[in-house]
Amino acid sequence: METQWMIQTHGNPIETVRELVQDVWKLSGLDGMLVTTNGDQNPLAKPRLVKDPGELENFNPFKPLMTINAARMAPELMRQHPQARLGAVLRPCEMRALVEMVKHNGFQIDNFVTICVDCLGTVPADEYEWRAARKGSNLGQESLQFARQGGIADYRYRSACQTCSSPAARSAQININVLGLPVRQSLLVQARDAQEAARFQLEKITDGPASSDLIGQHERVVARMAERHQNTMARISQHLAEFLPKDIEALIDTLQECGDCQTCMNVCPICEVEYPKRDADQRYRAEDITRWLVSCAGCGMCEQACARRLPLNIIFGHIRNLLSEEFNYRPGRSTSEALPV
Ligand code: SF4
Ligand code: SF4
Ligand code: SF4
Repeated sequence: METQWMIQTHGNPIETVRELVQDVWKLSGLDGMLVTTNGDQNPLAKPRLVKDPGELENFNPFKPLMTINAARMAPELMRQHPQARLGAVLRPCEMRALVEMVKHNGFQIDNFVTICVDCLGTVPADEYEWRAARKGSNLGQESLQFARQGGIADYRYRSACQTCSSPAARSAQININVLGLPVRQSLLVQARDAQEAARFQLEKITDGPASSDLIGQHERVVARMAERHQNTMARISQHLAEFLPKDIEALIDTLQECGDCQTCMNVCPICEVEYPKRDADQRYRAEDITRWLVSCAGCGMCEQACARRLPLNIIFGHIRNLLSEEFNYRPGRSTSEALPV
């Protein structure tokens, strides 16, 4: 069966995505879904588990705000609801994190339904609050207006988003693509493979196979964004060259200067399942720091939380790139690919 399908949005892409998620929910017989919602009284509220597809009314995967990497919540939700069939709608960096978390911890996600949605970028939390106060909390609509070009001007986003290796949805069971597309007319739905396409009955819940034109438009914009983000990463890294650790031991020296602060680890989805340990002399173990950062999903939650306001997206990203080259490993590709260390 085809894996790439198309849905007409009739001028309302958010509603179209909501309906698609509701269809997947019903077809999978889910008991609950972890989603980002809009219009909460608290605009900075984190993603939450909703237990009824009717509650998806306020669901908004395009809200340009990330207060937590939602993948971090998955193991605890599974522990709290061992018999429940759950799912999640994730951003690409959250999906990458979930894939890596499974490999670190070995928890089962066979019963966990994953939907990933192309990301239009997120702004720093304090800026979101300011913008939401001026424009109302439905800022996802504003971002969507720029989906065809690949989002609003990069400099308005968090540093992690400006350098995001892939803002395109890829490795979930169902992936929803809006980048490069005329979203007021149509969007793409891609299943991970033909088996998933059949399981979620994409021939019934979409408007038919995607045209090669639409797929081409999406791929071109995503490739342009990846190149731009890579260039941004290279430019900032060059600018910060003298501060960047040359290897793991040098990074550990930096972390040792932080004393007992472990905030970056406490907010990190990878550390949620495997926390870096210290030796008897309180120095972090090189092996643990390597295993942590080889899996870094590039979400930037660490930088957002850092007490010393260090540019962790670039510092950890630099180490991740070194490890990626050394081990020929890219985090988040697939749960079937073993961790290299
Ligand atoms: S890091 Fe990438 S996927 Fe994550 S919020 Fe930013 S642009 Fe989206
Ligand atoms: S190290 Fe930072 S960027 Fe990497 S996964 Fe953890 S929180 Fe996200
Ligand atoms: S959050 Fe910042 S200050 Fe705290 S341990 Fe991490 S790098 Fe150091």
